[in-house]
Amino acid sequence: MAPEAVLSVAQALARARACGVDRLDAMWILCQLLGQPRAWLLAHDHDVLPAAAASAWPTLLARRAAGEPLAYVLGEWEFFGLNLRVTPKVLVPRPETELLVDWALEVLDAGPGQQVIDLGTGSGALALAIRRARPRVRMLATDACAQALAVAADNARRLGLEVSFALGDWWAAAGAARFDLAVCNPPYVAAADPHLAALRHEPLAALSPGGDGLGALAQVIQGGPQHLLPGAWLLLEHGHDQAQRVSGLLAAAGFEAISTRSDLAGLARCTAGRRPAAAECRLDTTAAPESRPIARPGDPKAAQTGA
Ligand code: GLN
Repeated sequence: MAPEAVLSVAQALARARACGVDRLDAMWILCQLLGQPRAWLLAHDHDVLPAAAASAWPTLLARRAAGEPLAYVLGEWEFFGLNLRVTPKVLVPRPETELLVDWALEVLDAGPGQQVIDLGTGSGALALAIRRARPRVRMLATDACAQALAVAADNARRLGLEVSFALGDWWAAAGAARFDLAVCNPPYVAAADPHLAALRHEPLAALSPGGDGLGALAQVIQGGPQHLLPGAWLLLEHGHDQAQRVSGLLAAAGFEAISTRSDLAGLARCTAGRRPAAAECRLDTTAAPESRPIARPGDPKAAQTGA
């Protein structure tokens, strides 16, 4: 479609309809392009788009019409009340992942110094939402993808939230540090899941670990006991049909108080377990806090999965 020299708001929206782009999506894109709120659009049908906006419009429409997520077309998306920058290097934050934030806030006390890790942070959604709600936690966010970590770090900077970042695969990014809480929304879609085809614009490494979809979950669970303090929680998001298997993996790794919560669609979406505060952990409980420093960012380990 050739760029239009003169295009009114009404014509731009009509063009979107002709391309098969949902009217609300088109309005979001147009509002962002014009730097105007939705109410302005409704009252300015006959206003002419500035030339730069008119020439950008067909490309933006074509991207949305080709199935690119609205979040990528806009370059930003809201999660837990935070406006996050998103690029195709990170998953679009999903509303069901907010369940994990709610759960994390329940298990964190308000005291200072608790160390929290977000494994495979992507856009930084979980780490940033938790850090904003609990400013006294020390937050480490990891990812195996340097470009994803750059998006998360940029979000932290723009939102003024203090988070440390480490590059690496799952727990490897944390070094020897131990945590009071770990949250993780890993890739969990099975390789043969037909939904993957509809998610082709998002990074495959962040969606699916291949096989039955449990590989990354199993790795995070199995590494948990070495990296979590006694009594610490591990909170995981998983596929709608994986709750039982994830619970089994948690039990096999020695976690207790295992339970599952459902998302707003009624699908079993998150499962958590707690490390026992048992005798085997005595050494950790008597250790001075200095003996378990949070990992520093910058570990240059590269890894294949876990964005
Ligand atoms: N819940 C996402 C979806 O199925 C997948 C997210 C993930 O793999 N962590 O669209």
